[in-house]
Parts: sequence; C-alpha cells; structure tokens
Amino acid sequence: MSDGAEKRRILVVEDEETIRRGLCDVLAYQGYAPNGVETGEDGLREALANGYDLVVLDLMLPGMNGFDVCEAVRAALPDQPILMLTARGSEEDVLAGFARGADDYVTKPFSVSELVARVQALLRRSGRVRAEDQPAFEFGRWKVEPASGRARCGDASLELSPRELAILALFVRESGRIVSRRMLLHEVWGFSNPEKIETRTVDMQIGKLRRKIDLGEASAIETIRGAGYRYTAGRG
Ligand code: CA
Repeated sequence: MSDGAEKRRILVVEDEETIRRGLCDVLAYQGYAPNGVETGEDGLREALANGYDLVVLDLMLPGMNGFDVCEAVRAALPDQPILMLTARGSEEDVLAGFARGADDYVTKPFSVSELVARVQALLRRSGRVRAEDQPAFEFGRWKVEPASGRARCGDASLELSPRELAILALFVRESGRIVSRRMLLHEVWGFSNPEKIETRTVDMQIGKLRRKIDLGEASAIETIRGAGYRYTAGRG
C-alpha cells in the first residue's frame, strides 16, 4: 500500500501449485501480503506460529486435510478468520467445514471477483478492515469515497460518518440480498450478541441515512418486513 499502512497477511494452504500461485498473485495484486504453503501440516504450523489476518484453506490436501487443519487452528485461535475452498456442489463439505469452524467458503472453480469479495467480507467482519480503508464505490447514483468520508452525485456532495460508510459498504457488498438487523448490528456496530440489543437503533440510523442520501426519490434501501433491509445496485 502506498500510504505505508501494514498489509493484511493471508495464509494460503493449497497443494495444487497452479491454484496456490494464482491465489497468491491475485491477493498480492489486491494489496494483501499472501504466503502460500503446500500441506496441511505446514499450514497449521504457519497459522499458529506467525499470526495471519486470514487463512485460505483448501479442503482436499494430502496428509492432514482441510477439516483437520481448520479444527486445530480454531481450537488454538478462536477468532482466526478461515475461508475454506471446497468442490462445487459439495454441500456436505460446506456444512462440515462450518461445523469444524470455517467462517465462509468459496467453491472451486471460483472467479477472481468472487474470491476477492469473500476475502474482503471476512476481513471486514473480523474487524480487521476499517470502512475508511475501502476503495471508492457506487451507491445508487452516488460515488462514495471512504478515504475522504464523502459521497458525490453531480454537484451534490455530502459528508458521511464512519458508521454510515460502513452501512453503505455492507449494502453494496450484499446487493440484492436481504441484510438483517442482526447482521447490521454485528458488522457495523460490532455487537457480538445482537439478539439482545434493541433493533430500533438500526431503524433510526437507516431512516436518517435514507433522508440523507436518497435525493428525494424512491429509496434505494428497501425495508423487508420482519427481516431487515435490501439494497439492489442499479436501482434508486
Ligand atoms: Ca487440493
């Protein structure tokens, strides 16, 4: 990173050399500091010894497999974000991965954009990426610039708080999907046990954000009754 900020370190555990190299190249290009290892044993040793922001873990490894590595890492490092690579259509593997402590998964063969999106989401969820560190993005007709804390649309420009930035970034990331109040409380407010928290605070914050950014048209942020909210890119 040009500003000298420390790069997020990502451990890639994958025995297939072309995939391992491809992953490391993509992650390095995205501004992360990847380190690739070939076996589950090496992956476990590295993860425990050198403290990574994220572990990308292939499931099918010779020797110690991804499930066992995942379980061992999780036992030693309860907060370690782990992204598992599974074979397409193997729902049992995904469920087993979650049961052994994986946070998320990507199925092979994966697209670069899909992988990068899941990596960013996991790092953000784990609180290791601040909204202000995100690149500029589109929200409806607005161009949101996290670094300056502003959004622009034609001649209009407005200031956004870190919380508002985090909400908009979350909606864009989950575009077209329902975002529950629980997810918002977890990811934006950082509550680890949000069921117990009054969700009215979320509704008030969203109401305020709508009035601020919706330019008087139909809201880009839909309310989904009994569930939460939904933003769909290309609308509003
Ligand atoms: Ca493999």
